[in-house]
Amino acid sequence: MPIRFYQSLSQIQSDLASGVVTCRQLVDHYLQRIDENGHLNAFVAVYAEEARAQAEVVDQKLAAGTAGRLAGMVLGIKDVLCYKDHGVQAGSRILDSFVSQFTATAVQRVLDEDAIIIGRQNCDEFAMGSSNENSAFGPVRNAADPDRVPGGSSGGSAVAVQAGLCLASLGTDTGGSVRQPAAFCGVVGLKPTYGRVSRWGLIAYASSFDCIGPITHSVEDAALLLEIMAGPDEFDSTVSRQPVAEYTGQPADGRKLRIGYLREGVESEGVDPVIRQRTQERLEGLRAEGHTAEPVDFPLLQYILPTYYILTTAEASSNLSRFDGVRYGHRSPAATDLESLYKKSRTEGFGPEVRRRIVLGTFVLSASYYDAYYTKAQQVRRLIKEFTDSLFEKYDLIVSPVTPTTAFRIGEKTSDPLQMYLADIFTVQANVVGCPAISIPNGTDEAGLPIGFQMMAAPFREADLLAAARLMNGES
Ligand code: GLN
Repeated sequence: MPIRFYQSLSQIQSDLASGVVTCRQLVDHYLQRIDENGHLNAFVAVYAEEARAQAEVVDQKLAAGTAGRLAGMVLGIKDVLCYKDHGVQAGSRILDSFVSQFTATAVQRVLDEDAIIIGRQNCDEFAMGSSNENSAFGPVRNAADPDRVPGGSSGGSAVAVQAGLCLASLGTDTGGSVRQPAAFCGVVGLKPTYGRVSRWGLIAYASSFDCIGPITHSVEDAALLLEIMAGPDEFDSTVSRQPVAEYTGQPADGRKLRIGYLREGVESEGVDPVIRQRTQERLEGLRAEGHTAEPVDFPLLQYILPTYYILTTAEASSNLSRFDGVRYGHRSPAATDLESLYKKSRTEGFGPEVRRRIVLGTFVLSASYYDAYYTKAQQVRRLIKEFTDSLFEKYDLIVSPVTPTTAFRIGEKTSDPLQMYLADIFTVQANVVGCPAISIPNGTDEAGLPIGFQMMAAPFREADLLAAARLMNGES
């Protein structure tokens, strides 16, 4: 009997309980789907034998009544998350043949609940990008139209869920890399509050922005994964000690939400008309249910992207200095002395976008420009945070489209980095201020390409955010 296209773990668990399917059959099914969809280039490594063996272990635990909460969840992980004794490359040649020596805390926590990891997913090099075209493994293709990008940087993770190659993925979001590909692929993407989930074992891009987040079909699964991954961790001193709420709890009935929507998101000429229209329709629907939705002007909007790109490139230039050809990864065979070893290994190992960001970041940190750029951007970050916090005193949610366009064509923006950076206009705010945000599907354009709807909530209000998202996504 063919295996159905599962949209949530609860569907799978009820079929496991009634004997309709076993974990082993599920894994075989996903492995076959991965094989049939090789052209999407979503996975860079598939752990077939290991996943089959793990499935049999979980089937036995189910029979014995000892299985964990994620029994039946077949997961993929983005190629920036360490998993002991498995390769990890951050989509980069510089980490060719590197093998993880420990497992990321977030990954360990899902394994401890009996999730099965089926493989490692393609992404932009060091998570820098919005289209998954900056990967040493080649571009990922959007399953809705293989000539189009899936978004980035967690492109492989989003496509794998979209195309049913696994049930869920773990991605990372530094400026939108979970939400933007989720929007382009018609799935759910959650970026938690900064510090909600440990970053231990995540290859750093910009440490004060990076967050691990799930990509799923249902909000319910995103909530469950967050509940399991979140919370204190002795290996990450920036992770919060705030108690982890029950994110999977049922939404309170009848609560009326105060919603602020970003005026530019529904009025700006820079946003595709169909995306503005879908956002309007969504707002109308919310008003019809008794919620309030008012326009919000964000006077600092034009400063958000420059602030993001100055601070993240600065952090990246520092974080990526460890890839020097000496300790691990690619070492140039052409080196003749120490300096040429550094230069050649890094030039050969890093792709053009990563090199561009290292140069930009090194420039803004240089003695003559530090105050003009880096310090200034830190100050503006503070202003953006304070203004956003003041909005959360008035509103439960701040909403907008996730992106100004639907998925663009492969190659369309590669020669114009500024155009590419503009694609992040709505997503970076949550990372600049550190608040949680979610992307849920919001219909499609005329060509059938998915559109996303973004909701942000105050820091550590994931329970409210997820409850609202469940209702809006038609789950309850
Ligand atoms: N697209 C953004 C960038 O290129 C976000 C990347 C991310 O979130 N990792 O920086």
